Amino acid sequence: MTRLIFLGPPGAGKGTQAKAIAHYRNIAHISTGDILRQAMKEQTPLGIKAQNYVDRGELVPDQLMEDLVLHRLSQPDTISGWILDGFPRTVNQACFLEQLLQKLEQHGEKVVNLEVPDDVVVARLLERGRKDDTEEVIRRRLEVYRSETAPLIDYYSDRQQLLMVNGNQSQEEVTTALTKVIA
Ligand code: AMP
Repeated sequence: MTRLIFLGPPGAGKGTQAKAIAHYRNIAHISTGDILRQAMKEQTPLGIKAQNYVDRGELVPDQLMEDLVLHRLSQPDTISGWILDGFPRTVNQACFLEQLLQKLEQHGEKVVNLEVPDDVVVARLLERGRKDDTEEVIRRRLEVYRSETAPLIDYYSDRQQLLMVNGNQSQEEVTTALTKVIA
């Protein structure tokens, strides 16, 4: 059973790698950023609430994200496994997820941290050119990553769930390294 949480700064390649591994293992790829972008496009109540935060590079409030993940992890396509890409992003969200997985009787999730140096991350994000990839918003997203999300590295390392992968290699090399550590 493959249950994976992908950590790493914005631009680490989480989305690309999560998609590749999910495809290869035939499991659900759950990108909270993708779900939010879709909701914003469709102007659903969630999308309308989230827009302002996403545009500024701030985190969407935990409660909204937790409802979203509760709903998504309760869908039948997650039964054969999943990759969470972009959640959790705060220690609060990680505590919530731990309890949710207990309730759903899903165990053995592993956490992969994609390590990429700061300058590489910024260059990749500028190249990507998404709507929230302007220089100012990128800077804010990195600040938020450092203060809110990076503490999760210790959180999962303390729980002996953390696997480290060098994300500063070609896409194929990262996929190969990932496949090895999660085997
Ligand atoms: P991503 O595609 O993962 O880079 O996410 C894009 C944006 O969506 C982030 O900058 C946040 O504004 C928002 N977002 C995605 N996932 C979360 C989360 N778990 N908690 C709070 N905000 C999130």
